[in-house]
Amino acid sequence: MSTTVRAPGRVKEVTSLSNPIIKDIRLLEKKRHRDETGLFLAEGMKLVIDAMESGWTIRTLIYGKAGKGQEKVEALAARCLAQGADVLIVSEKVLGAIARRDNPQMVMGVFEQQWLPRDTIAPTGNDTWVALDRVRDPGNLGTIIRTADAAGAKGVILVGQTTDPFATETVRATMGSIFAVPLARMDEAAFIDFAGKWPGIVAGTHLKGAVDYRKPDYTREPVLLVMGNEQAGMTDELADACTTLIKIPQAGRADSLNLAIATGVCLFEIRRHALTFDGDDA
Ligand code: SAM
Repeated sequence: MSTTVRAPGRVKEVTSLSNPIIKDIRLLEKKRHRDETGLFLAEGMKLVIDAMESGWTIRTLIYGKAGKGQEKVEALAARCLAQGADVLIVSEKVLGAIARRDNPQMVMGVFEQQWLPRDTIAPTGNDTWVALDRVRDPGNLGTIIRTADAAGAKGVILVGQTTDPFATETVRATMGSIFAVPLARMDEAAFIDFAGKWPGIVAGTHLKGAVDYRKPDYTREPVLLVMGNEQAGMTDELADACTTLIKIPQAGRADSLNLAIATGVCLFEIRRHALTFDGDDA
């Protein structure tokens, strides 16, 4: 989150796809441009409001002309301007081109990316973190971030070359959890060093795991759940860095579970003690 006080933003109406600001926003589809600018695009009014309320810095608010005069949209625009973000009021054509799909959301925001520095991760109690070895599929990564949020994990660590969590497709799949789950990234060597200093269980999920995933006691110390790559599983070096290798027993003919599903199954077991059911149990 940026702490600098910014001058109020400006409002512009844009109808042309050749407008340089629009061209720049559309380039956020490319990872290289996201890396260079440190920005990304999030779609939907609720998401934009949630992100701002969680302290994320918005650079540009974009909304369709249909939002003009709508109380909620105008209030959001005023708030963005006061925080120093620019506001673009655009035609349907421009909105669709930015979202790269039909029926786009009426409101979108360009936000600054946030990455958690490795040395700020200080697990205590029975905190749970998830580490993903070279995750490749944007849908899997988005689903895992959403699931980590729902299970009450403290954050997700991306290990090695992974798909970009700030890609529009991944952000969509997180359903807003991108703004709730801290993300860190490390190369494999840095992660092995980090795992070696972990003050609790480092549970690697492995098809050759000797321990049923329901067996360890996850209630007493921080848990670092390590998941392997979709095709190759985790590297031998990562497996060696784990204090235990766990496996989800399977029936049927499938060799393995989908990565996001396996992460969900393990996470909800690890967090079982911390998740209370608030419905009636009649
Ligand atoms: N061919 C890969 C292998 O041999 O590991 C399959 C990878 S699987 C699709 C992706 C990841 O999901 C695995 O590395 C592991 O982290 C997790 N996974 C899938 N099924 C699992 C199971 N039954 N038990 C534990 N982890 C599992």
